[in-house]
Amino acid sequence: MDTARLKQFVGTFWEDSILPSITDYIRIPNKSPAFDAQWAEHGYMEDAVKLMEGWARPQLAAFPGATLEVVRLPGRTPLILIDIPGEGHDTVLLYGHLDKQPEMKGWSEGLGPWQPVRRDDKLYGRGGADDGYAIYACLCALLALKEQNIARARCVVMIEACEESGSYDLPYYVDHLKEKIGQPSLVVCLDSGCGDWDRLWLTTSLRGIAAGTLTVRVLTEGVHSGDASGIVPSSFRLLRQLISRIEDEGSGAIKLQDLYVQIPPQRIEQAKQAAHVLGDTVIDRYPFAGTTKPMADEKAELVLNRTWRPQLAVIGMDGYPAPENAGNVLLPYSTAKLSLRLPPTLEARAAMASMRKALEADPPNGAIVEFDGKDGQSGWHAPQLAPWLEAAVAQASQDAFGQPAAYMGEGGSIPFMGMLGEKFPDTQFVITGVLGPHSNAHGPNEFLHIPTGKRVTEAVARLVMAHYARAGRGAK
Ligand SMILES: [Zn+2]
Repeated sequence: MDTARLKQFVGTFWEDSILPSITDYIRIPNKSPAFDAQWAEHGYMEDAVKLMEGWARPQLAAFPGATLEVVRLPGRTPLILIDIPGEGHDTVLLYGHLDKQPEMKGWSEGLGPWQPVRRDDKLYGRGGADDGYAIYACLCALLALKEQNIARARCVVMIEACEESGSYDLPYYVDHLKEKIGQPSLVVCLDSGCGDWDRLWLTTSLRGIAAGTLTVRVLTEGVHSGDASGIVPSSFRLLRQLISRIEDEGSGAIKLQDLYVQIPPQRIEQAKQAAHVLGDTVIDRYPFAGTTKPMADEKAELVLNRTWRPQLAVIGMDGYPAPENAGNVLLPYSTAKLSLRLPPTLEARAAMASMRKALEADPPNGAIVEFDGKDGQSGWHAPQLAPWLEAAVAQASQDAFGQPAAYMGEGGSIPFMGMLGEKFPDTQFVITGVLGPHSNAHGPNEFLHIPTGKRVTEAVARLVMAHYARAGRGAK
């Protein structure tokens, strides 16, 4: 592998081919089905699929026998499947998604979710980094290998359109395409985060999630608050009381002891190393307002809080008028959408049951309390890296970034990894991504850090190369 030539190829291809297409992709408001129930009628998902298909198909001319199929199971989001033949009998599965999070408020002047803006190293707009770039980076990496005549195994690129809704369509596709996908010995997922822009970051775990909507109802209709307060309990107070059953409102620690797991010693060690490498970035990557301080002083503790401990966020509320429309009314009900992140190795269904039990038992003041939540999603914990892969990751980081790789859990979830981990227990996983400091996937001002996109692409090329070149391949 000629490193300079790889860099040159990837850099030029990103500028000339990838960025113009991602720019068009950012303009499409193809929100995931959970945020656009009429996604099929609106046709934006179809626009995004067409855009990526239209870009990818001509690239495949470089690979004899390669196919691209838009797979459509009835009533489900579409899926792009690209099959690129290679040497030997082995398969690498590369994964990304094309659906997007909703707009969110708070975009800075001149920026917006469906408005691509390039400023220096950054391309702003929804979905560029999460996770539109994935299909482009995968094909670019394979083209870069081709350009240097470097052998690799067969590669299957799978781009789904339901990830931001919890990938509920994906198991059906994985079953439907079981024969076609085969048995991958390496999975590369390009939908994760990075601690900084200076090295290759591998995700060692993902948290699970238990989410649901909690409603406390005290009246059949709103009444004058001056008339009723002191007789009718406030639904907000009762809601607050219920939430305090699962979360300590002082420290933010989760009170339900069965939502904790024993953190593996290796992961504690890696969290310390990650905290050391990151320094203040552990904290500075978030746009803290004013004098707001983080939840702990110790940075390694913050890393573990974010990756291995349960934590609650209230992500939506209902039952309230906007302040400018609020009269003196004791409101009939309060609703809060609760999103509880779970340790990677905890079973989500059991966590959900425990949460429900705590919230619904013995309603305060006998109020009507309902918790509406489904099964939740379990997290994922990476299997031990094979020695060849650990060496390849180190080399790839050194060559692409000029620094050693780093390992850290992620606080978010990628449901597909849990599914794959169960289906292919012997498979090796590389989960990485471009969501670094302030890149703000899901929030306002999301951006794609272009140099990192290029370097991650180089790293993928190197890992796919090393996968084929590894000792003992085909022994299985
Ligand atoms: Zn994503």
